[in-house]
Amino acid sequence: MSRPVLELVDVVRAYPGSPPVHALDQVNLTVTSGEWVAIIGPSGSGKSTLLNLMGALDKPTAGTVRVDGHDLRDLDDAELSALRGSSLGFVFQSFHLLHHLTALENVATALMYRGIPTAERRDRAAEALRRVGLGHRVGHRPSQLSGGESQRVAIARALVGEPALLLADEPTGNLDTRTGEEILTLFDELHDDGATLILITHDDEIARTAPRRVHIRDGRVTPHAEVLQ
Ligand code: ADP
Repeated sequence: MSRPVLELVDVVRAYPGSPPVHALDQVNLTVTSGEWVAIIGPSGSGKSTLLNLMGALDKPTAGTVRVDGHDLRDLDDAELSALRGSSLGFVFQSFHLLHHLTALENVATALMYRGIPTAERRDRAAEALRRVGLGHRVGHRPSQLSGGESQRVAIARALVGEPALLLADEPTGNLDTRTGEEILTLFDELHDDGATLILITHDDEIARTAPRRVHIRDGRVTPHAEVLQ
């Protein structure tokens, strides 16, 4: 059964100033489980502000944000952090891998605070690496991996906890075109496997890979979000 994993209702995020900047203005958006959505907009349109709300890193000035059923308004900092740990996976433009750890250890660290025994953490990390096509690189350190491989490790790390939602912020921004395409193909496969994905980008061509595209401009999400399929 599909269920909403992300709901934004009449969301406003204003930054203080004179006058205040309305980085998001009356945004309504629902993403249900199993969807793959690209959010696309030019620089300054409000993408980072939106990502911070979707990622439970910030709260709205007005309106409601529900992440995996939890209204952010009801949560304190520790609860927001726990929600990020249990329900969300993050992938960024730069891979943020720990250089002294192997691929396997980098992925296993994501399970560190869940009370999972070490052996199981390693098994699950190995499985996540296989899922992203890196079963043969578990013992490599980041310096021994290509950019595309490093991003796959970061994706495995984001997925290993089986989050309700994977948030990817310009995930191909540091990769050459062909490697970027391979990462987008991987997202396609993860989507086919049932993952719920949101990709944030300024690039139309990258956004076109996703079956649903939502445009953001001047802090407003276009009312007629484009849906294919
Ligand atoms: P994008 O990620 O699409 O480039 P942002 O969400 O970073 O857009 O910014 C949206 C708008 O909010 C811009 O006008 C930006 O200048 C403004 N903004 C972002 N962060 C802050 C902040 N901390 N204080 C004041 N204005 C901000």
